[in-house]
Amino acid sequence: MKVNKVKLFLVFALVVLLIIIFSSLLFYQKYNADQKQNNDKQNSSTELKDEIEKEKKQLPKINNTTFNIPIYMYHHIQDTDPDGDQLLYGLSLSISSFQEQMNYLKNNNYKTLTLTEMLDHPLAKSVVLTFDDGYIDIYQKAYPIMQKVGYRGVIFVITDLVSTPGYMSWEELKELKNAGWEMGSHTLSHPSLETLDFDSATNQIASSKKIIEKTLQTKVNFFCYPAGKYNQETIKILKSADYIGAVTTQYGLENSRNNIFELERIRINGGASLNDFTAPI
Ligand SMILES: [Zn+2]
Repeated sequence: MKVNKVKLFLVFALVVLLIIIFSSLLFYQKYNADQKQNNDKQNSSTELKDEIEKEKKQLPKINNTTFNIPIYMYHHIQDTDPDGDQLLYGLSLSISSFQEQMNYLKNNNYKTLTLTEMLDHPLAKSVVLTFDDGYIDIYQKAYPIMQKVGYRGVIFVITDLVSTPGYMSWEELKELKNAGWEMGSHTLSHPSLETLDFDSATNQIASSKKIIEKTLQTKVNFFCYPAGKYNQETIKILKSADYIGAVTTQYGLENSRNNIFELERIRINGGASLNDFTAPI
C-alpha cells in the first residue's frame, strides 16, 4: 500500500513537472515572437528614416528658389467604365496605368518627396505625388503599389468626409502618415472658397487644419484649393492660419518660393497615357 502511494506521488510530481516545463516553453515562444514583432516595427521606421536621409545626401540639391519638380495631381486610382459616368472616368486613373507610371519612375531612378521635403530639400530627379479628396481607393490601390517601390505621397483630406462611404478612415490615414506620407488640408466640406464669406472661409481653412493635426498628430503645412478656386483673400487667410503653401489645379511645373501659395501641378486624368505622364519630366 505504502509503495503504491509513493508511486502515485511520483507520477503526480512528474505530471506537475511536465506541465511547468511545457507552459514555460509556450511562454518563452510567445515572448520571443512579441519581441521580434516589436523589433521589426522599430526597424522598419528607422529604415525609412535612414533611407530618406541617404536619399537626401546622395542627390544633388537643385536651385533653392526655383524647384521645377513635377507635382502630380491624382484623384482616384481605380478601373472605371470609359463609356460610363464621364466625370468619374475623368478623375480615375486605371490601376495598371498607375502601376506603369510608378514602374517608369522607379526604373528611371526618380525619388518621391513630400511638399514639405520639396521646400526643405529640393532634389534633382524627384517628383511629388499628390492625391486630392482622400478617396478609399488611394489606400486600397495606390498605397500598396507605392509601398512596393518605396514611394510616398501627399493626401489632401476633406475632414467632414473622413470615414464616410468612399473615403478613407482616420485609421487608414494614420497608416499612410506612419509610412511617411504628408497630410494636407482640403477644407472641412469642399466649398468653393472664391465666393465664400470671410468667416466661413476662415473656418474651412483653419478648423480643418486643426482637426487633422490633432487627430493624426502631425503638422499640416500645405493646403489644396477645392476645385482650384481661390482669391487673394484666401491666400491671406491661409498665411494667418499658419500654412506654408498651397497647390492649385493650374497646369505646370514652374514652381518657386515666389508662388508657394499657388503651386502648379500636372493633372493625371483617366485615360492618361504613359507619354502624358512622362512628357513634363
Ligand atoms: Zn477636391
